[in-house]
Amino acid sequence: MRDETSHDAIKRVAAEILISAMERLEISQRAIVFAAVALETPMSALTRQFKMTEDQVREEIEEGLQVLRTAEGVEDLAGIRRLGDLINFFDHIHRLNLERWFCHRCGNLQVPKPTGRPRITCSNECRYRMNRDRRLGETPPEPF
Ligand SMILES: [Zn+2]
Repeated sequence: MRDETSHDAIKRVAAEILISAMERLEISQRAIVFAAVALETPMSALTRQFKMTEDQVREEIEEGLQVLRTAEGVEDLAGIRRLGDLINFFDHIHRLNLERWFCHRCGNLQVPKPTGRPRITCSNECRYRMNRDRRLGETPPEPF
C-alpha cells in the first residue's frame, strides 16, 4: 500500500471540515447546497425539483454557504466552491443523510415527497436499469 500523498491528505481534511459544517444545515438546505455546489446540478433542475424560483434557490444556497463559511476551518480553505473539484461527495452522502435526495442509479437530485414510499431511483429508466443490473448479478454502478 502506498503512503497517503499530501494531495490525498488535503482532500481528506477538506472533506472532513466541509461535511461537519454541512451537518449544521437543515436537511433540505443541506440537499440544495450539496446538489448545487458539490454536484453542480443545473439551476433548471434545482428550480424544478425544489419547486422554487431561481431567486429563492440562489437565496437558499447563499444562506447555506454563509453558515458553512462561518464554520471553523472553512475560512482556511481555498473556497467552498472549489471543494467540489477535490472531493467525491457521494462518499459522504450517507453521513449527510441525503441518500433519499439523490437517485441511487445515476445520482440525480430527487427531492423526496412528503408522503408515500421513499423513491430509490429518479425515473422508470433508472429503476429498470437498477433491476436489470441486479437480475444479471452485476454490481450496479451506483454513485454511492
Ligand atoms: Zn436516476
